[in-house]
Amino acid sequence: MRPFGTTIFAEMSALAARTGAVNLGQGFPDTDGPPEMLAAAAEALAGGANQYPPLAGIPVLRSAIAAHEQRFWALARDPDTEVAVTAGATEAIAAAILAICEPGDEVVCFEPYYDSYAASIALAGAVRRPVTLRPGPSGRYEFDPDELRAAFGGRTRLVLLNSPHNPTGKVFTGAELELVAGLCREYDVFAVTDEVYEHLVFPDAAAPHVPLAGLPGMLDRTLRISSAGKTFSCTGWKIGWATGPARLVSAMLRVKQFLTFVNGAPLQPAVAVALNLPDSYFTGFTAGMQDRRDRLVTGLTEAGLTVLPSEGTYFVTADIRPLGGADGVEFCRELPARSGVVAVPTQVFYDRQDAGRHLIRFAFCKRPEVIDEAVRRLRN
Ligand code: PMP
Ligand code: GLN
Repeated sequence: MRPFGTTIFAEMSALAARTGAVNLGQGFPDTDGPPEMLAAAAEALAGGANQYPPLAGIPVLRSAIAAHEQRFWALARDPDTEVAVTAGATEAIAAAILAICEPGDEVVCFEPYYDSYAASIALAGAVRRPVTLRPGPSGRYEFDPDELRAAFGGRTRLVLLNSPHNPTGKVFTGAELELVAGLCREYDVFAVTDEVYEHLVFPDAAAPHVPLAGLPGMLDRTLRISSAGKTFSCTGWKIGWATGPARLVSAMLRVKQFLTFVNGAPLQPAVAVALNLPDSYFTGFTAGMQDRRDRLVTGLTEAGLTVLPSEGTYFVTADIRPLGGADGVEFCRELPARSGVVAVPTQVFYDRQDAGRHLIRFAFCKRPEVIDEAVRRLRN
């Protein structure tokens, strides 16, 4: 783990705290999630749900996770054997990779990638094989199918796919997913999908969200991961989950026993309440975030940045070259002092750092007045 320093999120949030800058770096909302969920957590806490829950999570939450997957993605899961609750998506990702990979196995992933991927792959002694996403002619991030094919080989063990994608805001289309699925079938490898932004796809995206697990031949080889943090604006609760075939879920749980064992007893029933909220909660959540995206994109464009399209997540990336910037890390380290705003350089999420040197990421999961203040500062 020696090469892994402090995460960029911690570094940039500390910089925001120190300088009083508006923090559009680390992705966390500045308002609370649904009141029904918060009330249920308070009730569970007062009602004695304060000891170790079962390893796989409490039955009521596992049932709610299965019902949610059926309702939104038409995926049928057995709550007793095909669902596991984890300490956020982060633990699910780590446990899945540790469970599936032997030292020397290769993991195909798309870069830029969420920072825990490289660390979890390293913990397993596995090797990452990144495929680079680059803005295409429309500004939408794309990959070269030949580069994807070339990343597969005899040592490939799994594909780690994040869609909707952090930090680019890309939503993989059905055709793109089919390319991935085809190679998984051809090389007979597993897939782990990080779908924490499953409810944050905007109507102008090139495609709606489709879980890779639902494609032909994928259900039996895919662990699908999500989290309450994003969908219910409770990133500090760290309640995540994984669903998939029983053999993969039980392999993952064997690892989880020794990472955290269990987590979040009084929060688990509350997340079950949230997952069972009516469709109107989910559509309202997406629409609210779209307004914020549009507000920030307009503001950043007026401030002189070239903003790339964000189809989903709560992030947008921008090109700093029109403002004379060349290196995103340098730019983001200076931005709080220069403008009173914190953003995150995307180059730290690449192995081929040149591909992202001039790009920075802003989070728009903030109150409209906070976004307006950030934009006012950037314009000045
Ligand atoms: N994957 C991605 C792509 C994320 O953006 C995040 C959260 N920032 C996570 C995983 C981690 O989720 P959790 O907080 O539930 O561990
Ligand atoms: N997922 C959040 C982001 O991308 C931050 C998570 C973290 O701080 N580790 O901003």
